[in-house]
Parts: sequence; C-alpha cells; structure tokens
Amino acid sequence: MWTITLKQNFSAAHFLKEYKGKCEELHGHNYLIVVHISSKKLPKSGMVYDFREIKDYLKQILPDHKCLNNVYKFNPTTENLAKYFFEVIRKKYPVKKVEIWENEQQGSTYSA
Ligand SMILES: [Zn+2]
Repeated sequence: MWTITLKQNFSAAHFLKEYKGKCEELHGHNYLIVVHISSKKLPKSGMVYDFREIKDYLKQILPDHKCLNNVYKFNPTTENLAKYFFEVIRKKYPVKKVEIWENEQQGSTYSA
C-alpha cells in the first residue's frame, strides 16, 4: 500500500468552551494539517494523486484567517478539527489519517 502525505498551514482564532483556563479566551494558532491518503493501486502515472490537486483542495476547505467558533458548531479543539476534516476529505479522497497541530508540541490525530 502507498500513502501520500501532505502538509498545509492555516492561521485561525478560537476559544474553547467547556474549559477553564487560558484557552477559554479568544486567541490564535498557526495550525498545521497533515493529511495521509492511501491507495493499494499505483496508476501508470506513478502517482497516487497529484499533490497539486490535493493542495488546491485543502486550500478550499481550510478556514484560513477565520474564527473557528464562528465557522463550526462544534467546540474547535484539535481533536474535533481532526475528525471534522477527516470526514470532509473522506468524501473525495481515501484518507487514512488526519493530524491537526496547533503548534509544534501539541496536536491530535483522527484515523479510520
Ligand atoms: Zn488554542
């Protein structure tokens, strides 16, 4: 099986509900999404998918320069964001795993 991996950054603001501490206040992150897409077949092109195509798709769906609390009904934790993007991307590509990092130290992964 082949797995291709793409990374894309986006900047967004959020605040956390159901939480006591610094993160209940509005603040921002430079997020990183890491998308893993797998295929058991390799087309003649030698590419599972064109990286450019996936990159363009991610740019369309990522909430760059948005306040996540205004965009989504769910509490915008990295856990919920990873699951959300997994479900969205799965409609178009055979995604195996989505990681959402809010900085270099902290992130969440959702996988099938
Ligand atoms: Zn935060």
